[in-house]
Amino acid sequence: MSDQPADPRTLTDDQWRERLTPDEYRVLRKAGTEAPFTGEYTDTTDVGVYRCRACGAELFRSTTKFESHCGWPSFFSPLAGDAVIERPDDSLGMRRTEVLCAACDSHLGHVFAGEGYPTPTDQRYCINSISMTFDAGDA
Ligand SMILES: [Zn+2]
Repeated sequence: MSDQPADPRTLTDDQWRERLTPDEYRVLRKAGTEAPFTGEYTDTTDVGVYRCRACGAELFRSTTKFESHCGWPSFFSPLAGDAVIERPDDSLGMRRTEVLCAACDSHLGHVFAGEGYPTPTDQRYCINSISMTFDAGDA
């Protein structure tokens, strides 16, 4: 993406609407959630890097993706600790932890811990496919 501004945080809401499709905008900028088992990367096992669809920042590697059967792409760790921001989310009457892109503050999904998945962290970064783009072969 060559037309990225130096700091995507400076984009206005109208500019985001122009840059994203309506579905991307609803998830990335309005903290929406795609329907389970519909995202294009739910079952992807190819080797590569997942980037933020809003700003292009690298977020997750395929080596941390695991089969959670929850209906969304799941990772046990972000690519780097500072690639994402985590913050409390009390919407829908639940205490969850929202995951956002650290570079542009776009909504990615939620992270859950202690569910018993056999991964090194026992965390599940449950990320909307529509929040990401996949670059194959660079993990
Ligand atoms: Zn981003």
